[in-house]
Amino acid sequence: MSRRVLAGVLCLVSAACAQKADLVITGGMVWTGLSTGAPRVGNVAIAGGKILAIDDDAGIARYVGPRTERIRADGGLVMPGFTDGHTHFVDGGFQLASVDLRNAATPAEFIRRIKQYATTLKPGEWILGGDWDHTLWPGQPLPRHEWIDSITPNNPVFVNRVDGHEALANGAALRAAGVTKDTPTPAGGEILRDARTGEPLGIFKDRALDVIDRVVPDPSPERRDSALARALAHAAALGVTATAHMSASWADLASYRRLERAGRLTLRAALYLPLDDWRTVAESVSHGARGDAWVKIGGLKGFMDGSAGSRTAYFFDPYSDSAGYRGLLQHPETDMRRWIGNADSAGLQIAVHAIGDRANAILLSIYDSLTRAHGPRDRRFRVEHAQHLRPEDIPVFGRLGVIASMQPYHAIDDGRWVERRIGPVRIKSTYAFRSLLDTGARLAFGSDWTVAPLDPILGVYAAVTRRTLDGKNPGGWVPEQKISVGEALRAYTAGNAYATFDDATRGTLTPGYAADVVVLDRNLFTMLADSLDQARVRYTIAGGKVVFRR
Ligand SMILES: [Zn+2]
Repeated sequence: MSRRVLAGVLCLVSAACAQKADLVITGGMVWTGLSTGAPRVGNVAIAGGKILAIDDDAGIARYVGPRTERIRADGGLVMPGFTDGHTHFVDGGFQLASVDLRNAATPAEFIRRIKQYATTLKPGEWILGGDWDHTLWPGQPLPRHEWIDSITPNNPVFVNRVDGHEALANGAALRAAGVTKDTPTPAGGEILRDARTGEPLGIFKDRALDVIDRVVPDPSPERRDSALARALAHAAALGVTATAHMSASWADLASYRRLERAGRLTLRAALYLPLDDWRTVAESVSHGARGDAWVKIGGLKGFMDGSAGSRTAYFFDPYSDSAGYRGLLQHPETDMRRWIGNADSAGLQIAVHAIGDRANAILLSIYDSLTRAHGPRDRRFRVEHAQHLRPEDIPVFGRLGVIASMQPYHAIDDGRWVERRIGPVRIKSTYAFRSLLDTGARLAFGSDWTVAPLDPILGVYAAVTRRTLDGKNPGGWVPEQKISVGEALRAYTAGNAYATFDDATRGTLTPGYAADVVVLDRNLFTMLADSLDQARVRYTIAGGKVVFRR
């Protein structure tokens, strides 16, 4: 009998030679994520960056050796690390160090914050990001460049609305881009102008954002790496161990890879590059450069339309507050059909932004006809946002196996005002989490950070309560679309792993799966729904390493 076989026989009769864990998490309520059911008392053992075992007190003891670290969960929830299915992750890192206009509640406050931030800059440095929201302001006026020209004479400003679909340029930025009243408006975009003189007012929408963006200097690799590092620390503190990074650039990909080589990555990223760049992406992937378990090219991201907040989401019927106006498509349907078709032929996964009901219906019909034309394949087509759906389009997700990649926080944010935009009927199938699940759709939840806060616990709270941020819907906004805590958590874990083709290696607490684990201070399943947002992350573990502890 060989020594190995002999050792194996001895192991059968003794626990002494069970593989020892690097880390055990004891005394928690363990939710594996394999179902939407409630968690159970238990312990988790981790070794070599993977889940080793989930067991009761007696069972887990055999994995504990002299070098095993122990974390006490004290009755808190132990669950798979959150995956955020839709972020602009590196932008988020830049935003963390930029002017914060998110909660500026008046134009005066908006101006004050820009003025204050400008004093910290050298002349010529750009002021970007911001995330302002004019729907908070009395009368909801859009900002204009004159508001800030005198306080930012030497710094070009291009600060975006919270949804990223419109932005304000100041005089210095208009000059830098050579914009005058004669600058043509690009197709799929808008440049707001003075009705009398034709002079630009400073607001650029959707495809017109490029008019300014193209003169914004690219950040250096060092600055991009430090933005990514800031974003990683922020994510770790919120229990986010993976993300699908939408609208990523090649420079972003290079940054992730530099931090991975330096051993500084604490989150797994699937990057979705621009759809119209499909050929370069296809070539890169076919040369074996898709990536590894931490950083990979997930696929391609495109845009059908804009946003409801900017009135650029594309609807069948006109906006209720803008007679005859239906929004716009960012690209002609024929271009979208061709790009998606080419990308699908190259075997790439496709994720496309669609907000308005008509944008969603067109996208679903493109997905449907391509599936027929190209034959069966495990495609996992994604619709990003799937915000406003006609009732008859909801079951199409389940039928075609299209993933609804949705952001529950948007529901409690947009729910404050979107009925004014689209009326009382269309809101019934807005962020239709319940109807989508009931018709067999797979949900993948995320934040759309920086459009919304990265915190997934806020997303769970939003999906379960649908209580709008203004406190005006205590029983939930369109309450029939609420879902359970288990359903929301599934969409933030296993649902996202599936949506990036990672469901065979992570997304649930399964022996052999990646040890991406979060420990919360409370058990979300037994909390009152209205206080779910009070739960906090105590530990975040990524690839078996503790990357955050409170
Ligand atoms: Zn987005």
